[in-house]
Amino acid sequence: MRRPILAANWKMHLTRPEARDFVADFLPRVADASAAEIVIAPPYPLLGCVGQCLAGTAVSLAAQNVHPAERGAFTGEVAVAMLVELGCRYVIVGHSERRALFGESDAFVASKAAALLSHGLLPIVCVGETLEDRESGRTFDVLGAQIDGSLAEVPGERAAEIVVAYEPVWAIGTGRTATPEIAQQTHAFVRERLRERFGGAGDRIRIQYGGSVKPENIGVLMSQPDIDGALVGGASLEPASFAKIVHFESQEGSQ
Ligand code: PEP
Repeated sequence: MRRPILAANWKMHLTRPEARDFVADFLPRVADASAAEIVIAPPYPLLGCVGQCLAGTAVSLAAQNVHPAERGAFTGEVAVAMLVELGCRYVIVGHSERRALFGESDAFVASKAAALLSHGLLPIVCVGETLEDRESGRTFDVLGAQIDGSLAEVPGERAAEIVVAYEPVWAIGTGRTATPEIAQQTHAFVRERLRERFGGAGDRIRIQYGGSVKPENIGVLMSQPDIDGALVGGASLEPASFAKIVHFESQEGSQ
């Protein structure tokens, strides 16, 4: 049984007062949502403030990125130990925006995942094909290579702890969600690849869907057998909207 995991990726949004207001509004709305694991990933400068607001609650703190080195001359970067100090439990790595805008390779993502695990943090490893990949029939080749490359340094005995986020690039921030059928078919491929790589642990790895998730479509997405949660961008910026997503069981589930 895989516990659902719903994660908010705030990207480069919200000020400190807005973040405080968000948490104050959000927490009472999800007080009864213990079946699902809830994660919030604010921008780096808000980690301390949001972490304080979440202290003692069941909501976990995540960072949106990390550098794999222990320390050193990496201007503008943040090390794993710094995120540990701030109370992070998860870190998003390999988001398609990092891959496309900042040139991050699978090997770099793999080194981040390994560094996180070695410090007791858990990576949310993102993979996803572009529209061009999908239209040219290369979706599974691209995803297979991303999974193999990005998880290359995950030790087998730690595999069940990681989270994989399948995020079709064409669905991120576009309002265009993958149909439940396409999402399930692709998640099933990801699951099979994880089984090939990690054996039985592949069945325990949670696979999130990401790409224009909203209260109206979360129910039907979560009813798919290989979808174990969601990584949510735009719709996670409003407390009421993200709280509805967390309560997916009661959603109508229409497209
Ligand atoms: C994301 O940022 O990972 C994402 C899926 O964004 P959105 O929900 O806005 O498509």
